[in-house]
Amino acid sequence: MQGSQDDESSKQATLPPALYVVATPIGHLGDMSLRALWTLSQVDAVLCEDTRVTGGLLHHYGLKKPLLSCHDHNEASRSLEVMARLAAGERLALVSDAGTPLISDPGFRLVRACRQAGHAVIALPGASAVLTALASSGLPTDRFLFVGFLPVKTKARQQALKEIADVQATLVFYESAQRLAATLTDMVAVLSGTRRATIARELTKLHEDVVTAPLAELAARYGEADAPPKGEIVILVEAGEEQMLSDEAIDQALREALKTLSVRDAAASVAAALGLKKTATYQKALNLVENDA
Ligand code: SAM
Repeated sequence: MQGSQDDESSKQATLPPALYVVATPIGHLGDMSLRALWTLSQVDAVLCEDTRVTGGLLHHYGLKKPLLSCHDHNEASRSLEVMARLAAGERLALVSDAGTPLISDPGFRLVRACRQAGHAVIALPGASAVLTALASSGLPTDRFLFVGFLPVKTKARQQALKEIADVQATLVFYESAQRLAATLTDMVAVLSGTRRATIARELTKLHEDVVTAPLAELAARYGEADAPPKGEIVILVEAGEEQMLSDEAIDQALREALKTLSVRDAAASVAAALGLKKTATYQKALNLVENDA
């Protein structure tokens, strides 16, 4: 049975040399997996963003390990040391302050360097705010785009939102409580206030709060509050209505363009404006010219 095989492998006496990417809880300390605990108990050292945070977490589970800081500022130099240690047969774990490393957290450059050098990298799944928020939101989960943190400045944030406005998938963002109101205002302006959205706050924690409503309602609610909400936040936005253009609408745009442009230019300009395929639009324009002649 698959289950018993897995039980056996988790009991193996020695952990093979590798970089173990270990997810830790995003709030509720009960969300640490048994495999994560066992792996952390076996490794030679733990790479972490903040040694105080991870030291405290390990202490909670009765573990004590040498800790090596690994963050955005020293990831490149740390990678060399990690690879030398892996080459010497060590077993190392990478964790972040909370959740899954590499997901809006450091680790990507380290994992890529290890893989390129031919070292084993083994990821242990566990908590991550993106999937936890998605699973509790009630928004469609069949297709989603994880955007992570948006730019902090309004102009850049609005531009980033414009680029993904038409994506036919649930959009998932990480955001700080301080910027929530400003980001929601930009989302209403760029994505429209009628799109359904979810604010998932303090997931897995005591004051977990998941609210789904049209974007305009959420912007009003969090914009009017005297103080920003407390805690950590994921924003999810349902895909917008797909812009289905009728054949008549395309023909009308082409007829208008053909008044002043050649068939080729009219087709190119309409295809660009409406996001259509160039060749098919050119064929449509040709048919129109022939039929109207
Ligand atoms: N690596 C983490 C993960 O796997 O989710 C994310 C790290 S990122 C630096 C931190 C952001 O994740 C927070 O600003 C917030 O947007 C989101 N987040 C983390 N924990 C959360 C929680 N318990 N509830 C809601 N959002 C959370």
